[in-house]
Amino acid sequence: MITFRGGIHPPEFKELAEEKPIEIMPAPKQVVIPLSQHTGAPAKPVVNVGDEVKVGTLIAEPVGMISAPVHSSIAGKVKAIEPWVHPVLPVPTKSIIIEAGEEDELDPEIKPRSDNEIEELKPDDIREIIRSAGIVGLGGAAFPTAVKVTPPKDAKIDTLIINGAECEPFLTADDRLMREKPEGIINGARILAKVLGLERAFIAIEHNKPEAIRVMTETARSVWPEAEVLTVKTKYPQGAEKQLISAILRREVPAGGLPFMVGVVVQNAGTAYAVWEAVAKRKPLYERVVTVTGPGIAEPKNLLVRIGTLAADVISHCGGLRPSASKFISGGPMMGIAQASLEVPVIKGTSGMLFLDSSKRLFAVAEESSCIRCGHCVGICPMKLVPAEIARMAEYEKLEDAERWGILDCMECGACAFVCPAGRRLVQWIKYGKTLIFAERSRKKGNK
Ligand code: SF4
Ligand code: SF4
Repeated sequence: MITFRGGIHPPEFKELAEEKPIEIMPAPKQVVIPLSQHTGAPAKPVVNVGDEVKVGTLIAEPVGMISAPVHSSIAGKVKAIEPWVHPVLPVPTKSIIIEAGEEDELDPEIKPRSDNEIEELKPDDIREIIRSAGIVGLGGAAFPTAVKVTPPKDAKIDTLIINGAECEPFLTADDRLMREKPEGIINGARILAKVLGLERAFIAIEHNKPEAIRVMTETARSVWPEAEVLTVKTKYPQGAEKQLISAILRREVPAGGLPFMVGVVVQNAGTAYAVWEAVAKRKPLYERVVTVTGPGIAEPKNLLVRIGTLAADVISHCGGLRPSASKFISGGPMMGIAQASLEVPVIKGTSGMLFLDSSKRLFAVAEESSCIRCGHCVGICPMKLVPAEIARMAEYEKLEDAERWGILDCMECGACAFVCPAGRRLVQWIKYGKTLIFAERSRKKGNK
């Protein structure tokens, strides 16, 4: 079966939510919408405290090339613009706080396009629609999609891959979306292909999602037969871009490089759906599907949630936390980020909210001891790195050595730490080393 070299097989725990159809969570009474929800510069507010907004109203505009606009996810009044805890960033960041009004009214700009109007759109029109809808990669990285579908002029793109691998344990949001909205995803793929000047696309799905594979294959036949559904092996991190490209095309993205360098653009299945909604309905990205799961939550669900909804509101919609809940992670257990507050908002990149339970010790971290030189971390590293050595260099702040050994190519997938019998905090040390390297680089830049 199609796959990449290395990787691991962590327990999947998908059964908690995979049979739960996507449920629409009612709009909350208040949302907190951070200005920084994407890779790149934070957006700049275009509303003031006291302004009335509707669902989908532009509330912040992009700043510079790599940025994305932000839209209101509820109708109501801007209550404050102030720092708030963020699920990804380590410090509170400026956010627009909106209090709901009486009616959950849509912005009048949100209205469908006819099939003819859609057909007549040129690639640049579509890029502008994607940009102004604030669409970013929904797989977690939140890179602005309009930038990703505008590769450098000399790049020869020959392949579009729609990523439906969803290799993180517990998460089922993409699986449900592919089962419930296959037409939208395939139409989104067709639109993305048109932007890139391509006639076809691959849709990659891990083999632990047989129903999604069946539904997407059948739908592709009737909607756009040029979309070829490929079954890839269930293995972590199969959904990482470079691993998917290696598995499907046997092309290796160079160290420090990007997929366009080997002629490929990869888009998450949820992103393709958001593109379809932006084009067909003029709908900006103000809501997304989030898997709320884990042994610590009373009722695991796949929820369509308004951006800016607080974790506390999502938890009460899912029946509350179980008494044994001990850890809250935004994202999956491998690459997600542990949270210290239930007041963090759902942002565009929130694919899951995971509530772990101490009694079951899922993904428990072993007591740390010395490296026993077993080599497991080297054998499984999907980036072909030597995690034991790089982590040691980072720990002792030998940063030049760590850079030479490829620390910046580490995608922080956590697979090495997962297999280490000595409980070495490999990925934590690597992240520490990378933080020091980037801090030093920006210090040098500031001195120039
Ligand atoms: S070194 Fe980085 S890329 Fe390799 S397994 Fe560890 S976290 Fe993943
Ligand atoms: S897996 Fe752990 S113990 Fe084995 S070589 Fe890597 S760091 Fe050392």
